[in-house]
Amino acid sequence: MNHFTGANNHLLVLNRGEQLHQQLELFADKHQLKMAWLSGLGGADSLTLGYYNLKTKQYKWQSFNQELEILSLTGNLSIVDGHPFWHIHGSFSGPDYKVIGGHVKSLSIGLTGELFITPHGADITRAYDETTGLKLICPL
Ligand code: ZN
Repeated sequence: MNHFTGANNHLLVLNRGEQLHQQLELFADKHQLKMAWLSGLGGADSLTLGYYNLKTKQYKWQSFNQELEILSLTGNLSIVDGHPFWHIHGSFSGPDYKVIGGHVKSLSIGLTGELFITPHGADITRAYDETTGLKLICPL
């Protein structure tokens, strides 16, 4: 991982083989980030996406073990149970140019990962929500 600090933000460049969530968690710990916004692009060589079914309150997971363009990653950071939690969604394409996307459970970097992180000062966390069955953003 390479890190470049801006005026109020960070540029992270991830290398082939690095795990997206692991690197982001390390970065949040190191820089004591509590809330932040993420955007990014690059290439993946494997990933697992989820689709959340509100009726069953369960994710349907699917893994893709192929080189894919990372068209767009967007996400946010909150602190859950004392640990950084990155919630990330993404869209991806392969050689047929068709787009797939969803909730990003895991992603191994292929070509590169170019991530832009903007810290935010809000004191938030996530708490279980009965209606959705998910941990949603709420005040700390
Ligand atoms: Zn999600």
